[in-house]
Amino acid sequence: MHFDCFIIGAGAAGLCCGIRCALAGLRVAVAGAGMSSLHFSSGCVDLLGRNRLGEVVFEPFGQMQALAAACPEHPYSKIGADAVKSGLDFFVDQAKARNLDYCANGDKNHLHITALGKVRTTYLSPDGVYSPRIEEAFLNKKKVAVLNFAGFRDFYPELAAANLKKHPLFENCQITTGEIKLPELSRTGGSVRELRSIDIARHFDCAKDLGPVAEQISRLGQGAQFVALPAILGISNYKSIRKSLEDITGTIIYEVPTLPPSILGMRLDEALRSRFAELGGVLLSGERVCGGGIEKSRVFSLDLASRAKISADNFVLATGSFFSGGLASRLDSIREPVFNLKVLANQKRGNWYNPTFLSKESHPFMEYGVMTDSSLRGLDAAGRAVENLYCAGAVLAGYHPVREQSGLGVAIGTGVFAADRIIGQANNPNNS
Ligand SMILES: Cc1cc2nc3c(=O)[nH]c(=O)nc-3n(C[C@H](O)[C@H](O)[C@H](O)COP(=O)(O)OP(=O)(O)OC[C@H]3O[C@@H](n4cnc5c(N)ncnc54)[C@H](O)[C@@H]3O)c2cc1C
Repeated sequence: MHFDCFIIGAGAAGLCCGIRCALAGLRVAVAGAGMSSLHFSSGCVDLLGRNRLGEVVFEPFGQMQALAAACPEHPYSKIGADAVKSGLDFFVDQAKARNLDYCANGDKNHLHITALGKVRTTYLSPDGVYSPRIEEAFLNKKKVAVLNFAGFRDFYPELAAANLKKHPLFENCQITTGEIKLPELSRTGGSVRELRSIDIARHFDCAKDLGPVAEQISRLGQGAQFVALPAILGISNYKSIRKSLEDITGTIIYEVPTLPPSILGMRLDEALRSRFAELGGVLLSGERVCGGGIEKSRVFSLDLASRAKISADNFVLATGSFFSGGLASRLDSIREPVFNLKVLANQKRGNWYNPTFLSKESHPFMEYGVMTDSSLRGLDAAGRAVENLYCAGAVLAGYHPVREQSGLGVAIGTGVFAADRIIGQANNPNNS
């Protein structure tokens, strides 16, 4: 099989890159060895939530010029603020094409509530987490209810409410808590404390009668400007479920992003995969790329676990960081396992981490990754740019997704940027 573009890694970076290439009419495949980090993320797209001084950022694009001057190796510095913005706009459109609505506060960050009741910034949120009407309720609330489903073990309304009360936005607001019983699940016997987000989401997807749940929301949330529930109201039918509950109760339902497995992240993963497939992209799920050959500064072969024979004009490495196997550590080294690309990493193990686990400085290894030229082309072990190999997402060096809150912003921005370079070359082959 021959492709115009072969993408290694089926996370946000690889899939956004694949969707962009497919829309441009390229023959494109994405190989993903396993689940991506989306299943663990909040589902909200962080762009730049904190600056280098650790201060909260509300105008992320306004910070990017200073970032470019201070950190030229940062992926945003390489691709530029305009490309980041255009990548995120593209992402919103593609999610919408699969009926998944993401909302932004213009070009600014907005606030959302975490499962622990912290109020934190992000840039794009699913419309159950942020929308103009939710913002209105946020600003004018006098009473809020935080409710859980009986048996769901990863959300604690009392803890969330206690933390919320500490935030200036909520200090003068009455916060009540409570628990909703799901009649069908309580009839199954055994310990109801064993329910995970996915169990309850599947239950909602098949629920025939939302009346009993709506009745409890109305009773427990009486008078509240919004009712905060863990975001587990279905994976596929969540829109109609949320709308039905809001119509019956007359209350805004606020979906609080949960701990992993994250239903909001799974909705996004499903939307990106199905968008890619409907555009004619070839998705090789469960396919691991074990290695790749580079000769004369070009990738010329790939070694797939299935032993399928493929060739391509261009390749994209979007294999994620340590978490997804895009970077591998040994006792005394850190390497990129597919092409053995040059990595930006301190090779002395003692320098990889901060001895204080929860230090504000965080851990140096979070910034390790593959090195690229200014077009995001990977550098081989000798430091030469590989002409037909682009890198995108968490495998990249030079940024700290946790400390600066930029994980999905970098993944989407660089994934779309890599696609545009490849599309540009396909349209104008002399421009390599
Ligand atoms: C627990 C957690 C919570 C997070 N929360 C947020 C959040 O709330 N907001 C936010 O913006 N960011 C968040 N992030 C960061 C964000 O999710 C990631 O930065 C981003 O999703 C990275 O996307 P990616 O496509 O680069 O990599 P990944 O999502 O890691 O995907 C890499 C893919 O490559 C595949 N792969 C790896 N090696 C191979 C191989 N050899 N062959 C084939 N496939 C391979 C993997 O199986 C996987 O499918 C979070 C991250 C984690 C871990």
